[in-house]
Amino acid sequence: MKSEETSKEYCPLWFDIEKLKENQKQTIYMDNAATTYHKPKGVYDAMNEVNRCLSVNAGRGSYQLAQIAVEGMDKLREELLNLINGHNRAEVVFTPSATIAFNQIIGGLMLNSQNRVYVSPFEHNAVMRTLNLWQKRCGFSIEILPMDVKKMEIDLEKTEYMFREKTPTHIFVTQVSNVTGYILPVSEIYHMAKEITEGQAIVIIDGAQSFGLVNIDYQRTPYDGIVFAGHKTLYGPFGIAGFIKGKALDIEPCLAGGTGSNSLAVDMPESIVGLEPSSPNIVGIAGLYAAVQFINEKTVDTIYQYEKKLTEELRKCLKNIPGVILYLPKDLEHQIGIVSFNVRGYRADELGMILDEDYHIAVRTGYHCAPLVHDYLNDKEFGGTVRAAVSYFNKIEDIEALEQAISELAEGA
Ligand code: PLP
Repeated sequence: MKSEETSKEYCPLWFDIEKLKENQKQTIYMDNAATTYHKPKGVYDAMNEVNRCLSVNAGRGSYQLAQIAVEGMDKLREELLNLINGHNRAEVVFTPSATIAFNQIIGGLMLNSQNRVYVSPFEHNAVMRTLNLWQKRCGFSIEILPMDVKKMEIDLEKTEYMFREKTPTHIFVTQVSNVTGYILPVSEIYHMAKEITEGQAIVIIDGAQSFGLVNIDYQRTPYDGIVFAGHKTLYGPFGIAGFIKGKALDIEPCLAGGTGSNSLAVDMPESIVGLEPSSPNIVGIAGLYAAVQFINEKTVDTIYQYEKKLTEELRKCLKNIPGVILYLPKDLEHQIGIVSFNVRGYRADELGMILDEDYHIAVRTGYHCAPLVHDYLNDKEFGGTVRAAVSYFNKIEDIEALEQAISELAEGA
């Protein structure tokens, strides 16, 4: 049998792989805030090996393969804690996505009408829709952290005033905005809230756009919860995410099911095992384990500095093009990886389509699942923003190609 026939026979796909590879080779990928792509080679290799050799149900059997699978989960928990200097200080709960992590946390907090929950205006719908769902059932209040609109940054002075006037019981803040790339002052907010509430406020950060990219020092700032998404700044695959659970984060299970332990009881186990029902994604665990090795090898600081350089270049190039509107945090120091913009004369989705079809540049357009921030950006006449988001795998030439394309389009508008 010829090798092409073999690969066709054994690799049934719903698309033409050769055509797709051609398209993929031409594409300048700048949608890394949606998911980082490509992944480090080790991620693909580790997933392939584990899929073939260790695709067993971890935590369900006592045979050797199942035990090696459990070992992999424990090693990944350790690696994730080491990445944030949180070894022995917190626990790691795995979930299939950051969204499910937030559903478990918000649903598990058992919020009631006495609670006052603060959010930043940059929150993603993983937080906002989940809070909205539970607010309708439980009646807690939601306050929005104040913005310095000129800087497009959180106003910390006003935040302190608000915290003293209306004491928070819970705070949800994203560390990096998935719309503007703004790095929020999460550590300052944590310490301010803890000081004002004498340690009572629970502070959860959304690390979907920051974990593995922005330095988190858990020893200095022991957040009550940090949600991570394996497939974004951690460079892992889809289907594996979770949260760091600090000691004060007391949550009830709000997902139930088999855990492979104490199976005769219909109550969920009380330990952390009770927060991880259902068969673990061992292939995803293997991919994320390899991704964290990649980050360790490069170092968080190197990846951060590299992305900072690309961010600076994006800001500089786009700023010089007449007709371009940029939605930037004032300080480059407070921005990483993501730049949102529009071009006068185009709707955001129209521009995205032209960039794809005529220039092979993949960007995201629209409102990016962040419902609050667009009131401050005033971008609704464009239907949201065009978002360019880079990763460690982008090059300066990618930004030059975007600059060239936008210059031509702005001129023709
Ligand atoms: N939080 C932020 C800041 C995000 O950007 C995203 C995804 O874009 C999420 C949460 C949700 O991640 P997922 O869709 O992987 O659950």
